[in-house]
Amino acid sequence: MAPLLRDHVFPALRREARPLGRVTVFTGSAKGDSAVFAAKVAKLAGAFAAAGIGLVYGGGKVGLMGVLADSAIAAGGEVLGVMPQALVDGEIAHDGLTRLDVVPDMHVRKLRMAELGDAFVALPGGAGTLEELFEAWTWQQLGIHTKPVALYDIDGYWQPLLRALDTMTERGFLSEHFRSTLIVRDDPDDLLTALTEWTPPAAKWSRQTATVSPTPI
Ligand code: AMP
Repeated sequence: MAPLLRDHVFPALRREARPLGRVTVFTGSAKGDSAVFAAKVAKLAGAFAAAGIGLVYGGGKVGLMGVLADSAIAAGGEVLGVMPQALVDGEIAHDGLTRLDVVPDMHVRKLRMAELGDAFVALPGGAGTLEELFEAWTWQQLGIHTKPVALYDIDGYWQPLLRALDTMTERGFLSEHFRSTLIVRDDPDDLLTALTEWTPPAAKWSRQTATVSPTPI
């Protein structure tokens, strides 16, 4: 009975309290080597706008970040940007957003982006995107938040990473339980459905969760 309550009933109740109003998106400050990336990012932005779901992202105009913001705005969606002062020039702050929060540093940026969204989605990107993705996913494992984390897999871009995760599971460093919490989809509508239906797993160290973060995000 206890595992049933812990793994299914309580997570479902927690999930119900968080509707999908906004999604936090991590993606590259470059556009990649193929026009397919931008085309599929634009498709995702349009699907979110059509569903009335707002976007939270890094606030820049460059790379896939810029494509995401431009496409969501063109489709009438809400777009919130969060950018550290030091990057306002480098990543060229977008001047057409619903709101741009300029914050003191990277740590505040990631926390603000985590607070503002009800789910996290990583689109193709580089080291910065990976850093943001893994923080969101590992915080989920620790029970710091109970929001879904997903990969939008354009043109198989995330497959090598997924193979590395499978190796971690096979070699005993990542439990099957947490490996399976990561959502992977290549279609925007499928992705939205998966985010909406997701229920949080039991936290890794249940008794320690409160000491990891006294203020859940
Ligand atoms: P990239 O995927 O490397 O093109 O970077 C995508 C986004 O991640 C950009 O907005 C970067 O500013 C951001 N970023 C880069 N490094 C970090 C980091 N260590 N922590 C948080 N965000 C980062």
